[in-house]
Amino acid sequence: MTVGDELLLGDTINGNAAWLGQRLAGAGLTVTRSVVVADELEAIVDAVTSALERADTVITTGGLGPTSDDVTRDALALAAGVGLRRDPVIEARLRERAAARGVTLRPMALRMADVPEGAGLLINPVGSAPGLRVELPGGTVYALPGVPHEMREITDTAVLPLLRPSGPVPARRTLRTAGVWETILAERLAPVEALDGVTLAYLPDPAEVKVRITATGPDAALTLQGAEELARDLLGDVVYGSGEDTLDRVVHRLLGERGQSVAVAESLTGGLLGAELTRMPGSSATFAGGVVAYETGLKASLLGVPEELLATHGAVHPEVAAAMAVGVRDRLGATYGLAVTGVAGPEAQDGHAVGTVHVAVAGPGGSVRRSRPKLAVAGKGQAVRGLIRRMTVVHALDLLRRDIVGLDAVREWSDDRDS
Ligand code: ATP
Ligand code: MG
Repeated sequence: MTVGDELLLGDTINGNAAWLGQRLAGAGLTVTRSVVVADELEAIVDAVTSALERADTVITTGGLGPTSDDVTRDALALAAGVGLRRDPVIEARLRERAAARGVTLRPMALRMADVPEGAGLLINPVGSAPGLRVELPGGTVYALPGVPHEMREITDTAVLPLLRPSGPVPARRTLRTAGVWETILAERLAPVEALDGVTLAYLPDPAEVKVRITATGPDAALTLQGAEELARDLLGDVVYGSGEDTLDRVVHRLLGERGQSVAVAESLTGGLLGAELTRMPGSSATFAGGVVAYETGLKASLLGVPEELLATHGAVHPEVAAAMAVGVRDRLGATYGLAVTGVAGPEAQDGHAVGTVHVAVAGPGGSVRRSRPKLAVAGKGQAVRGLIRRMTVVHALDLLRRDIVGLDAVREWSDDRDS
């Protein structure tokens, strides 16, 4: 149960419900219903009471803060038919936290030390308000703060250890793929889907698809291992990693293992590629830097793209991408130069359709690989622009990954030519 007017008004995306749903299912707990409730005493009492008619455990998030619109603790006290008591340990902790930050504790903040009589406290290692465990006639309520990282921390450390799985815990593994559409993946993975006790979920992000394999049954771990092997066989080098192995991490790792580096030259992505490659701490070992050459003239003056080429073909051309890649590699002294140019939209440009993108990788041996991904996306306006830019980043990183390890460019997505 997620509490908050902001959720009902659509000002806040209900990330807590999504995260809890995944986490609980992953722990083998069956979630039967998820509701959103206003910041109102009666509404919360009513929702908790009726939820406990259907389930033996209810988890709530939100409404534990210090302000007058935070009424979850009052609602739980009302539902339990008890009063609130001020907890000295929480009060001392609130005072300590305030002192450590050099601020005086506002009287209002002491509301966070009020707990329903008889409630258990769930330590909040990363925030002020603790979570609460309240026994009601129909079952147990775990009330957690709304702040997402606090909610997550308390769930993992104090709630999940107290809950018993309702069935065997499934085994899960997420494979990460780039460059192939979801439907093609699903076709290829039909034999995995046909395995006993195995289900697949496709989680598409622009340009990447995560494939989650879930295995159930008495030998879930073994079943999962078999399913993963089969999936990897069927998908081949389209799988670039698993779990938390993001594409930027994989690229850094591959470069690092070889003592190599990359520099980027960007047009339509305006710095997103550089941002992605500096996401992780330690990136400087393998990322040299980047040039955002948005204006056509800068592609010549900063990167050495031949003026005639730009005059004849404009900035959206495979040879322009290639010259940008070579230019940035040489000027920044990196092993690889990675360049992107194209049309992000929403309007076509110089006769090129939205989504016309050229990517090039200039490698250490003097070879340049050019790629023209097919980035046709549905939708319009700003949304298309965002998607094209994001897809360009993913495609460029994947092309670099493939170049580093000597793989062919992926076919499903692009008209690639090596040269
Ligand atoms: P605190 O104890 O820190 O004051 P709280 O329990 O009172 O937190 P809220 O005031 O409801 O929680 O929310 C705090 C923050 O967490 C807000 O920024 C809110 O947008 C965010 N938040 C609350 N509920 C959710 C939710 N279901 N999903 C995502 N974010 C949420
Ligand atoms: Mg709130």
